[in-house]
Amino acid sequence: MDSVKHTGGCHCGRVRFEIVAPAELCVSECNCSMCSKAGYLHLIVPADHFTLLSGREALSTYTFNTGTAQHHFCSVCGVKSFYVPRSHPDGFSVNARCLDEGTVEELTIAAEPFNGREWEKQLPDGRGSFPDR
Ligand SMILES: [Zn+2]
Repeated sequence: MDSVKHTGGCHCGRVRFEIVAPAELCVSECNCSMCSKAGYLHLIVPADHFTLLSGREALSTYTFNTGTAQHHFCSVCGVKSFYVPRSHPDGFSVNARCLDEGTVEELTIAAEPFNGREWEKQLPDGRGSFPDR
């Protein structure tokens, strides 16, 4: 599958990023206390496939539970367009809902949601692997 460059960001436009990922994306929902409220659609990318273009100064960070996940959100518009997930602390999870139009050819939501509510059961090793490595 060929990788393309996608861009995206928050609602007010301060936070902008660029990622390298397939044009046909498979993303996942998560049933944890945070994601289920926000409707976040997870697209996991390795750190070297993610570039923050602007908005670092606008980002606020929320943490809870183990504090591993760094929930970055725009302090102006409140949108969480990407963050550092507990499953991939050396990478990023991009919110597929925050990608710009034009480069995503297909968006599939995995039939099975990530079971973040029962974290230890979902990832007994404490973390996940990167899909494209
Ligand atoms: Zn914003």
